[in-house]
Amino acid sequence: MPRLVILTGAGLSAESGLRTFRDQNGLWENHSIDTVCNGHTWRANFPLVQAFYNARRTQLATALPNAAHRQIAAWQARYDTVLLTQNVDDLLERAGCRDVVHLHGFLPEMTCAACGHLWNIGYAEWPEGAACPRCRSVRDARPHIVFFNEPAPQYDRLWETFAELTSRDVVVVIGTSGVVLPVTSMAAQFQGYKILNNLEPEPAVDGNVFERVFYLPATKAAPEIDAVVREQLG
Ligand SMILES: [Zn+2]
Repeated sequence: MPRLVILTGAGLSAESGLRTFRDQNGLWENHSIDTVCNGHTWRANFPLVQAFYNARRTQLATALPNAAHRQIAAWQARYDTVLLTQNVDDLLERAGCRDVVHLHGFLPEMTCAACGHLWNIGYAEWPEGAACPRCRSVRDARPHIVFFNEPAPQYDRLWETFAELTSRDVVVVIGTSGVVLPVTSMAAQFQGYKILNNLEPEPAVDGNVFERVFYLPATKAAPEIDAVVREQLG
């Protein structure tokens, strides 16, 4: 059975009100994003890092899935699908998606750098001085987010998925700048049918390696992509 592989980025959730850092010139309340998402400095900036992700969780509580999230859930119900996302929000899950591979972590979760424990706090703020529920360490409890300069364990799943693709499969890439993931070379190595949707052309993504390109907001592109996917996969 042919597979549908979906790879999404921040552009998918932008219309749900979750702004991308680039929309804000890479700044959060005048702090560089590199200060609050950095594997080398998160311990040194501990209160700021927690405050930043507390704000992200609070914002996520009020965001709603959009039509593009729901379209992906519909594809998942119809086809043999692998769903890979760079997004740390839970809007795909709330739209009805399952088995979402979060390549860069998951905002509702905390993890412990000391004991490896992983736990869900929903949309709650992480209180100052709170401890890991397993080992009681206060200084090791951190958001379950892959920071800059840190390995992304779920990338194994991504490389495996792309390595196993056949020419009958379809890849849909939605809302990614190609700055973090080498989307162009990944797509170029795959002989099947490739669809790209970004709001506008991105310097790091070569639209020429895709069979179809939609430069539209994700919710506007979703029904058009659906028509193409149906042509390809039935
Ligand atoms: Zn712990």
